[in-house]
This record gives sequence, C-alpha cells and structure tokens, in this order.
Amino acid sequence: MKIVKTIKELKALISRLKEEKKTIGLVPTMGALHQGHISLITHIRPQVDILVCSIFVNPTQFNDSDDLIKYPRPIEKDKQLLKENSCDILFHPSVEEIYPNNEPHWHLELGELENIWEGEHRPGHFQGVTQIVYKLFESVRPDIACFGQKDFQQVMVIQKLIELKKLPIKLSVCPTLRNQEGLALSSRNQRLSAKGLHEASEIYKSLQYVQKNICDKTPQLLIQDVKEKLETNSAIEVEYVAICEVKSLHEVNVIDPTKKHVILIAVWLEGVRLIDNLLLN
Ligand code: AMP
Repeated sequence: MKIVKTIKELKALISRLKEEKKTIGLVPTMGALHQGHISLITHIRPQVDILVCSIFVNPTQFNDSDDLIKYPRPIEKDKQLLKENSCDILFHPSVEEIYPNNEPHWHLELGELENIWEGEHRPGHFQGVTQIVYKLFESVRPDIACFGQKDFQQVMVIQKLIELKKLPIKLSVCPTLRNQEGLALSSRNQRLSAKGLHEASEIYKSLQYVQKNICDKTPQLLIQDVKEKLETNSAIEVEYVAICEVKSLHEVNVIDPTKKHVILIAVWLEGVRLIDNLLLN
C-alpha cells in the first residue's frame, strides 16, 4: 500500500494510473476504522483496478470543537487494517496540506438539505463535508466513490455535489453495519463506556419498533413512543427523531404508501453524539 501525504503527489500518481487506463475507487473516511468502513472497501474493491482510501479528520465539518479534539486518531492501526484489506493508496494529508493559508471561501448551494436535520443541528457541517469531498474528488478523480447509508443525509448532499459540479462519478451507497446488539458501528462509539455501548443499542431497537408498527400507528405517536422508550430506560437524550419522505427528507404526519420513508435519529449519550436511520417501507 502506498501512503501519500500531499495533493501534488496524489495528483501525479493518479495521472499516471489514468494514462494506464486504470479504474479508480475512492472511500473517504476520517479514520479510526471499523468494519463499517471496511465494508465500503470490500464493496468497491472488486469493481475497480485501484482502491484509494483517505483518512482526514476534516476540521471544517466539525461545529463542535470538543468533538474535533476528542475524535480518535489511531493511524498505525488504521494503516494495518487498510493493508489487510487490499487498499492500494492511502491518502493521509495534514490539515495544513488541505487548507493552506490562502484557502478560498467555500460555499455550495445545497438548498433545504443544509437547514434540516443534520444541517440544522450542525450548522456549517455539510459545507465542510462538501468542501473536503470536492477536494478529494478533484485529486483522485474516482470512477466510483463509496459512502455509507449510516450518514443518510450526507449521501444526499454528496449526490447534490456530484450533480452541481457535473462530476463523472458513480456514487455507491453501502448498508449500515451494526454490532451484534444492533448498534451502528461508528468511530465515536469508542468514546462510550461498556454501559453506554449497551444502552446505545436501544437506538436501533426503537427504529425497528417504528418499522414494525408503521402501518398501525401514526408517525406522531410512534415518535412519541421512541422518545419515551429511549429517555425513560436509558441515559440517552434525543436531539431529533423524525419520520420523513426519503426524497425530500420532509417530515410526514401520514404515511403515503406510494412513497418511501425513513426514520432519522440523533441522540446524545455520555457526551457523544450518535446518529442512525432505518428505511421503513
Ligand atoms: P467517517 O469516517 O465516519 O466519516 O465515515 C466514512 C464513511 O464510512 C462514510 O461514508 C460513512 O457513512 C461510512 N460509515 C460509517 N459508519 C458506517 C457503518 N456502521 N456502516 C457502513 N458505513 C459506515
């Protein structure tokens, strides 16, 4: 596995590979890799000649400085995992490399996506996400880029970035990988105690409860049940939970059987913010 630290070196390497007509896949990450990340790699590995994975804890997408400081960075362990999973190129730049002093202002017209759910609760988050992903897309020029459904709204934002910038990139979306108790794998789970990890598995159970009862109760009642279940039986504090139509992410009061819906949730537990979602019908 080749480890690249600068954009210049990465672009030169990619140009050579493109001349050789190699197809390229990209998996962007912030590191502290777990099997969820690895599932993205295993998914696109057979579809491309060259697999690029990036590890960069992107400061511009953090609206909470404490979260940025505490974000785990076990780089040696990550390198080992990537080697074991047939990654060809690891792009692991410094913050100075990605954001030099003369960095131009970044703003992408994301429309409503920017002001709802994750956008509302993490102001500036999706501008930061698109800023870094666009830089990665420009440098790697991948044929396929893989993202996780775990970050449901992020996938929609990346799709919008691809459309707005007219990029010839196929977006591949992988299902959420969970632990045995159902908790979605996340780098932030490392910051939970054993008790917290166990309590956090209630999140998925409550999403499954909604999925099971979606035809029998109104969305409002189901949401109320979820909040009550989580907040009375555990230390979980719900930031938002909503049943939405998948294309617009607008919250619904009634389920239209001709449309698809998703439940989105964000919670706080032991000072850690966790998100999850589940397609409902
Ligand atoms: P992150 O390092 O958290 O920015 O995540 C990098 C990529 O991995 C994103 O596309 C995430 O959606 C995806 N990802 C994170 N956790 C999971 C998971 N449990 N299952 C599948 N994909 C995931």
